[in-house]
Amino acid sequence: MQNYIDGAMVAPVSGDYLDNYEPATGQVYSLIPDSDQRDVDLAVAAAARAFPEWSTWGEQRRYECLMRVAELIAERREELARAESIDTGKPEKLAYEVDIYRAEANFRFFATAILHFSSESHRMEGQAINYTLRQPIGVVGCISPWNLPLYLFTWKIAPALAAGNCVVAKPSELTPMTAYLLGQICIDAGMPPGVLNIVHGLGGKAGQAIVAHPLTKAISFTGGTATGRQLAATAAPMFKKLSLELGGKNPVLVFADCDIEQALQTTLRSSFSNNGQICLCGSRVYVERSIYNEFRDELVRRTSQLVVGDPAHPGTNQGALVSAAHLDKVSSYLQLAREEGGTVLTGGERVHLPGRLEGGYFIRPAIVEGLPLQCRTNQEEIFGPVITLQPFDTDEEALALANGTDYGLAATVWTQHLGRAQRLAEHLQFGIVWINCWMLRDLRTPFGGVKHSGVGREGGVEALRFFTEPKNVCVKWG
Ligand code: NAD
Repeated sequence: MQNYIDGAMVAPVSGDYLDNYEPATGQVYSLIPDSDQRDVDLAVAAAARAFPEWSTWGEQRRYECLMRVAELIAERREELARAESIDTGKPEKLAYEVDIYRAEANFRFFATAILHFSSESHRMEGQAINYTLRQPIGVVGCISPWNLPLYLFTWKIAPALAAGNCVVAKPSELTPMTAYLLGQICIDAGMPPGVLNIVHGLGGKAGQAIVAHPLTKAISFTGGTATGRQLAATAAPMFKKLSLELGGKNPVLVFADCDIEQALQTTLRSSFSNNGQICLCGSRVYVERSIYNEFRDELVRRTSQLVVGDPAHPGTNQGALVSAAHLDKVSSYLQLAREEGGTVLTGGERVHLPGRLEGGYFIRPAIVEGLPLQCRTNQEEIFGPVITLQPFDTDEEALALANGTDYGLAATVWTQHLGRAQRLAEHLQFGIVWINCWMLRDLRTPFGGVKHSGVGREGGVEALRFFTEPKNVCVKWG
C-alpha cells in the first residue's frame, strides 16, 4: 500500500513498511507505509494548499464530489467487503451489509446534510441582529480504529469534507486496506488533490504527528480510552478542537416483562456481532431474576451454536479476532474471569480450523456467570466475544449495576413497560440508550459517550458543528 497525499499514491519518505497480517490465516499479506513526521508534514502542507479553493467551492460542488465518492463505493461494494473481511477477519457478509453499506451512507448523508445546514440568528429587539457565521476550520485530523475500519473512517472524513475542511486522516495500522482503496476511489471520483490525504502507519508515530502538528486545528478521534487520554494531553495545550469517541463497557438490562424472544435474538447479536469488537456491543447482561435461568440457558444454547469459521463463507457467524495480540488479550481476560470466581458457561476455547486457516485467530464466544460488579472483568473493556451474566431484583439495582463503571457509551433496555423505559432512559449515564433494540442508527442523531467513553458528539448536525468554527456577527441598526 501507499499513502494518498496531494492526490497521488506515494511511498513513505523513509521507504519503510510494516507487515499487515490476515487474521484468518495469521500470515502477512500486504505491507503498509510506516509513515512518520515527514509524511504527515507533506500531507498537512497539501491540505493547507487545497483549503482555500475547497472551502470556497460552495456546498453544491462539494455535494457533487462527495456523492461521486459514494457512488464509486457502491459500485465497488463487493471488492471493498472482500478487502475488509481479509483485513479484519470479520465475515465478508457482515462487512458487506454493515461496514461498506454504511461507508457509502456516510458520504451520501453528509453530502446532502451540508445542503440543509443552517446557522442561527438572534434579534435584539429594536437594536441589532446577531447572526452566526459557521466557517470551516482549515486542516483537520481524523484518526480511526480497526473494528469498523471504513465505516468509522468515513464517519469522520465525510462531515469534515462536507463542511469545507481539508483532511489528514490515519486509519488503524491493523486494518488499513479499505482506507487505501478509498484513496484510489477519491482519485477516480476527481476529488481535487490535497482535499483528503491518507497517511498510514503507527499511532505513536504517524498518529501522534497528526495530533501534534500546529496546522491541524481540530482532531476527531475514535479509539481506546487510554489513547484518547494521551491524545488530549498533546492537543489540549495547543487549544485544538477535540472530539473523542472512546471505549465502552455497555450494559444490557432485560426485564421479565419484555418480549423474551426479541431480547434473546438481539442480545445474541449485541454480544457477539463482529466478535464483540464493536464499541456498542453489550458486554454486561443483567436479567431480572424471575426469568434469569430461562434466559441464561437459552442464550448459552444459542451462543454455543454460533459457527466459528472461514470469514469468506456465507454460513460463518464468527470470523477471526483482529490480531494475535488481541486474541491473547481476550484469552487473558477469560483467565482473569476464572481467577475472580466466575464460571465460564460456554466458549472461550481457541478454535483451530484446518488448511490455510490453521494459524488464524479464532476463539469460541464466551459467557461468564457469577462475577460481582466491582471485579476487573466487569469494569475493564475486553472488546471481544466475552460477556458476563448476572441476575437483578429491582429497577434500582439494575440501574446501579448499569451505571457502575467509568464508561458511558451505550445501554440497552428490554421492557414493555413504557414508564419504566422512560424513567431508566433519564437516569442511565450513557450517550445512547436503546429501548427494545440495538444498533438501530439514525445518522441525524447525536452519537457518542459520556464519562470515560468520550467527549463531543458525532452524527448529523453535531458533526457539522464540530467541523465548523462559529463566529458571531452583531449588526446594530443604523
Ligand atoms: P487505539 O486507541 O489503539 O487506536 C485507535 C487509532 O489511534 C489507531 O489508528 C491508532 O494507530 C491511533 N493511535 C494510537 N496511539 C496514538 C497516539 N498516541 N496518537 C495518535 N493516534 C494514535 O484503539 P483500537 O484498538 O484501534 O480500537 C479499539 C478501541 O476503540 C476500543 O476501545 C473501542 O471501544 C474504541 N471504539 C470506540 C468507538 C466509539 O464510537 N466510541 C467506536 C469504535 C471503537
